[in-house]
Amino acid sequence: MTFVITSGCCNDTSCIPVCPVQCIRPRPGDPDFSTTEQLYIDPATCIDCGACMDECPVSAIHTEWDLPEHLDDYLGINAAYFETNPISESSPPDPIRRRLPADRGRLSVAIVGSGPAGCYAAAELSEIEGVSVSVFERLPTPFGLVRTGVAPDHGNTKLIAKRFGSVLNRPNVRCFFNVEVGVHVSLPELLEHHHAVVWSGGASNDRRLGIPGEDLPGCVSARELVAWYNGHPDFGERRFNLDGPTAVVIGNGNVAFDVARILAQPAASHQSTDMAEHAIEALSRSTISDVIVTGRRGPEFAAYTTGELSGLHHTENVALVARPEEVASVSASTDRRGLILADAAARHRAEGERSITLRYDLRPESINGDGAVESVSFRRPDDTIETIEAPLVVRAIGYRGMPVEGLPFNERSGTLQHLAGSVCDPETDESVVGVYCTGWIKRGANGMIGTNKVDSAETVDSILHDFGAGRLPNPAHDGEQLEKLIRTRQPDLVDKEGWTRIDQTERSLGRKSGRPRQKLVHVQDLVAASHPRDT
Ligand code: SF4
Repeated sequence: MTFVITSGCCNDTSCIPVCPVQCIRPRPGDPDFSTTEQLYIDPATCIDCGACMDECPVSAIHTEWDLPEHLDDYLGINAAYFETNPISESSPPDPIRRRLPADRGRLSVAIVGSGPAGCYAAAELSEIEGVSVSVFERLPTPFGLVRTGVAPDHGNTKLIAKRFGSVLNRPNVRCFFNVEVGVHVSLPELLEHHHAVVWSGGASNDRRLGIPGEDLPGCVSARELVAWYNGHPDFGERRFNLDGPTAVVIGNGNVAFDVARILAQPAASHQSTDMAEHAIEALSRSTISDVIVTGRRGPEFAAYTTGELSGLHHTENVALVARPEEVASVSASTDRRGLILADAAARHRAEGERSITLRYDLRPESINGDGAVESVSFRRPDDTIETIEAPLVVRAIGYRGMPVEGLPFNERSGTLQHLAGSVCDPETDESVVGVYCTGWIKRGANGMIGTNKVDSAETVDSILHDFGAGRLPNPAHDGEQLEKLIRTRQPDLVDKEGWTRIDQTERSLGRKSGRPRQKLVHVQDLVAASHPRDT
């Protein structure tokens, strides 16, 4: 028997150090670690101890005999990895034990943003004796895209919030939610109260197609749609045209697949998830039956992971369809992608059947319509134009970071300028003293949730290095004074206890309807739920 890592793997790597025979790959530092779709277990080496399963934060590890049917493929997917990457060395990675220099006193760090990168940075820092951490979040709720980006039907991926929650609950971590840096407190003020500030604000903008008609109503970004169905307070009032029968998604990554799945499934499928009520209600009136997902190039270049393609293939009540001539480059292959696409190419869609159609080699040319989107035109490799009628066109071509006032920004990459997470001047490489970054604003919008762990560890090492070298001046004020200051400016500050009350309220509302939680969407409702109840 063996254990098997499956589609939900977030590359967090918590499983690696606990494996007694070191049969999980790739490991941080391996050449393919930063690009791998997931981690894999070598069935020939695994001794079935189960330690990795207990450690996995998203429950992505199963025993071979207990593999759910729709994850059967993963037995072969795990084994196949080791055919080309045989294990050559099995000593465990050295445990990293960070500590502060004995002569430097305590270290205080502010983290701006409570998404995965911010939480991993808080985890690494708060484990060190003598370090205190303040986490700032613009919304009343933490966890960033784990709450407002991960698809509602990927419940296991959201389990990582439990692990992040235990980090935020550590006694040396303070939480300042519903507090916007730049509005309620400035970056210089944070530096007056901490040795260092880590910016982990993510990527809050989208890449653009740069074609005519892109700004017509009905052409939306995946970021907006995803935030809407996930109950992000900024998008609660958005409306999308869900009049079918067709919607087009431009893009070929996992987010494009999330959007396609959510739009194509019957609304009843979402009833058992934490999707926002307003979205379930709107989707129940949707008449979309076919979602066409388009890629500029052939399937061999697609950015989605095999796991997500497999998930799409197994989506209940939705047929996965492709055109034989467009997937010919991979459909003869016996690997998992080839087999799925060959199956999709052999599938014929019945009239009106719910479906997701994968199309390739379609380069967007223009979005057309009189006052609103009516169709989208693509150029094919033979230079002919194909126009698909659809009132909803979703751009899913990637997120992009936004400049941060006062910090050097690289317009080309949409990231802060930095060296190993230390924000610096692009001309001189000189550090902006005390300012660091992690996550998408540091490396661009790519990678899995767990990719942020390695990323944040690098930033933490830079902070400790600078602190040890005496480059971080002692702050003039402490955390208590900062909290007093912020409470005068933002009486609706949500702290740890407030967030726990929101969490309990949402879970209790969800329980009544058999859901993991029912999200509160409006800021005033979230703030009200954060207050202690009268007894
Ligand atoms: Fe390693 Fe045990 Fe997990 Fe097998 S079950 S991969 S031996 S930790």
